[in-house]
Amino acid sequence: MKLSSRAYSLYDAFSKPGCPVCRLTLDSVHHYLDSLIYEYVNDPDTHQALRAARGLCPVHAWHVQDEINASALGIAVLYEGVIRHLLADMGRIETDGGRRQVSQAQSALAARGPCPACEHQAHVEEHLLRNLLSHIAHAEFAARFRQSAGLCLPHLRRALDLNASAEHKAQMLAIQQAIWGELQAHLAEFIRKHDYRFTAEGFGAEGSSPRRSIEALAGQKGLR
Ligand SMILES: [Zn+2]
Ligand SMILES: [Zn+2]
Repeated sequence: MKLSSRAYSLYDAFSKPGCPVCRLTLDSVHHYLDSLIYEYVNDPDTHQALRAARGLCPVHAWHVQDEINASALGIAVLYEGVIRHLLADMGRIETDGGRRQVSQAQSALAARGPCPACEHQAHVEEHLLRNLLSHIAHAEFAARFRQSAGLCLPHLRRALDLNASAEHKAQMLAIQQAIWGELQAHLAEFIRKHDYRFTAEGFGAEGSSPRRSIEALAGQKGLR
């Protein structure tokens, strides 16, 4: 089976827990934010995009603060520019200023462009989902996908929104239904074993099904 590098990374992620597209997207966004802070601190286009967005969106801003061993200086350099431009666009507000000053400031607070990390994320997600669909007819690829946790609901919806072959979408959906059918059975078994008459049986694979069901419907933590 010959796979593109994106398809191979999917194939590899199928054997890991959770939605494979969430996992690979989170990795990619992490690297993007890491290099944003370290390598693009002096890049005018990066500054421009961040100023237009009024900083990173809350999810990505907190990712930088909490998940990346970011240099505080890198954050300072990028955000000093964001806040300086925000102040300039708000205009000087006098305490006895009128409605015009307030509305100028109000409109200056709005973002003028998307969060650059969200744009990167959307691009990666689309690319991965296109690769998933275009390889789903490969028996070996499909079999490995069947063994995975499947796509989360948000990624399944996005895959179906793509302009791609209906046949490939149907093949993907059939596998996804089998995966969710198994998850639903695990949940039912989990509930059954909580009956005092069966507690002695102990838990198998169904033990992790409550958490897996949260991930299946919400996607992995930290992506949205
Ligand atoms: Zn996902
Ligand atoms: Zn974002």
